[in-house]
Amino acid sequence: MSWPSIDEIAASVQSGQTSAEGNVKQALQEVEKHKDFAAIISVPMERALKRAEEIDGRIKQGERVGRLAGVPFIAKDNFLTFGGRTTAASNMLKEFEAPYQATAIEKLELEGAICVAKANLDAWAHGSSTENSDFFTTKNPHDKTRVPGGSSGGSAAAVALDIVPFALGTDTGGSVRLPASFCGVVGYKPTYGLISRSGIVAMASSTDVVGPLTRNIADAALVMDVMSGKDAMDSTTIEKDSNGYEIRNPKSEIRKAKIGVIKEYMGEGLEPGVRTVIDQAIKKLEKAGANISEVSLPSLSLALAVYYIVCPAEVSSNLARYDGQRYGHTARETKNLEDSYFLSRQQGFGTEAKRRIMIGTHVLSSGYYDAYYKKAQKVRTKIINEFAKAFQLYDFLLGPTAPTVAFKIGAKTGNPLQMYLSDILLVAANVSGNPAISIPAGQSQGLPVGLQIIAPQRADKQLLEIAKAFEELN
Ligand code: GLN
Repeated sequence: MSWPSIDEIAASVQSGQTSAEGNVKQALQEVEKHKDFAAIISVPMERALKRAEEIDGRIKQGERVGRLAGVPFIAKDNFLTFGGRTTAASNMLKEFEAPYQATAIEKLELEGAICVAKANLDAWAHGSSTENSDFFTTKNPHDKTRVPGGSSGGSAAAVALDIVPFALGTDTGGSVRLPASFCGVVGYKPTYGLISRSGIVAMASSTDVVGPLTRNIADAALVMDVMSGKDAMDSTTIEKDSNGYEIRNPKSEIRKAKIGVIKEYMGEGLEPGVRTVIDQAIKKLEKAGANISEVSLPSLSLALAVYYIVCPAEVSSNLARYDGQRYGHTARETKNLEDSYFLSRQQGFGTEAKRRIMIGTHVLSSGYYDAYYKKAQKVRTKIINEFAKAFQLYDFLLGPTAPTVAFKIGAKTGNPLQMYLSDILLVAANVSGNPAISIPAGQSQGLPVGLQIIAPQRADKQLLEIAKAFEELN
């Protein structure tokens, strides 16, 4: 069965027509039914059922529960949650139980939402396919021989399979948008700082953002409205739009929109089938009255190189806390403290985490800092400025989310550089902090293709509105 829209689910629970308990049980059945896609790491069943009971009880007392009353959702397993483990899909945190919850989760719970499962990811969110998970690889709902994209692959697959109406991911370098594109769902990366990072297992702190995966834009906007805003636990958070993010009049948005098609995103590496879908999307927007022209942002071709220096640098610093002494995996029978550090990390970290720790410490080391890290930060500023300049002329920029459809499991695992190239159209918006969204735009070879729209920093509301308008053209 397929879930109604999020506001309908909540209204129906609030009115007593359906119940939170019924919703949780249904979601858990769906988890069971779709086990062979391997989207889920764990299920905090007891807590989910207890929360449902509590919510149903409050409704019976005549209380208003909230905008997400009894709505089940799934969180990527790098969100700290109560009721079970938070592993980040890493052996290092295999047994870890969080002492507090992520702010995003707390905010959803305050409105009555219920976390029913924790989704698979590339360990520590390092990857583009979920193949880097230390536990297992999630399968694409459209073709089991293909990856769901990553790193939020479990979350995207869960939404595409209709296990829950929405799931949470994190997007450090495309990890919400890429799986959204590969699985045929909406994936939204807000402006950096709009949703608190408190209680998210840190990857690259200067680009990490929380983002929802949903079946439609209105659901993404609602969840966004609940999760966003300043948080005392994360000093990089910013105020939310004073009008909130729920959508009013999307049609008028398209008519007056000036949209730039990013030339660098429509270049050679694009699969012909993907190009066709994006060209059709552009035509539809034009027909609806948008003013569309091509724009060149030459620095974007450097974004991938910048990202794969800045990201490992921050990863190496953020993963330094996992030393086997305080929490996480501890090696047994070690000779001394140093040996314990070595062995705990050797056993707890997978290949990709080790690779990033090594690249990161290398680019930050005194001999190479100027040549790599400092230079990357300079180019990063160039990218930010280039976006800002383009947004003086355009309301939105557009391109594909990924150059290809979902690739075969195993196709890129032997070649990390090939894997990194999947992120080529994604990382610029992370490096610059701009909001970006992937919307299902059509299919190629029977597999979903995502359209990516990027907006000026803090223009999240406008971005959601144009995305909604585009959705209505389909
Ligand atoms: N695929 C990118 C990487 O491996 C992005 C990951 C992410 O956004 N979490 O770094």
